[in-house]
Amino acid sequence: MTDPSSPQRDPDCIFCKIVAGELPATIVDQDDRTVAFMDISPATRGHALVVPRRHWHNLLEIAPDDLRATVLAAQRLAARVVERLGADGVNLLNSCGPAAWQTVFHFHVHVIPRYDGDPLRLPWTPAEGDKQEIEAAAAALR
Ligand code: AMP
Ligand code: ZN
Repeated sequence: MTDPSSPQRDPDCIFCKIVAGELPATIVDQDDRTVAFMDISPATRGHALVVPRRHWHNLLEIAPDDLRATVLAAQRLAARVVERLGADGVNLLNSCGPAAWQTVFHFHVHVIPRYDGDPLRLPWTPAEGDKQEIEAAAAALR
């Protein structure tokens, strides 16, 4: 197992700077592997981000122990937004790569409280897909 206290940071990364206390952030939770802080552009009331203390670019790169800790911290915060903010639901969101909307390249999970009737909408329109295309993609994934 990797030592969670071992330094692994990117000097140009804003989330590394937040973790190190070099940039201001509204921190709401932390443990030995993770830090959670409020998103500066919240999608809904209580929108927060959970990051591993160590710098990993994205979902494909992060080490399993840090991924596990980050997801568990996100679950902890999800329970809290329901309990303390009265959220009716929660979206966890991770964007991996620019094509998937990632803009900060330090792995993070968005914890987005959802409220009945809030203005957020699915970014795609659900419509029945082509069966053959679905099967072909599945075949490539097996
Ligand atoms: P993503 O597009 O998934 O990479 O998300 C990056 C998120 O980081 C966005 O929701 C931003 O609003 C948020 N963000 C960027 N800079 C900061 C900051 N200094 N403090 C808190 N949140 C930030
Ligand atoms: Zn970083």
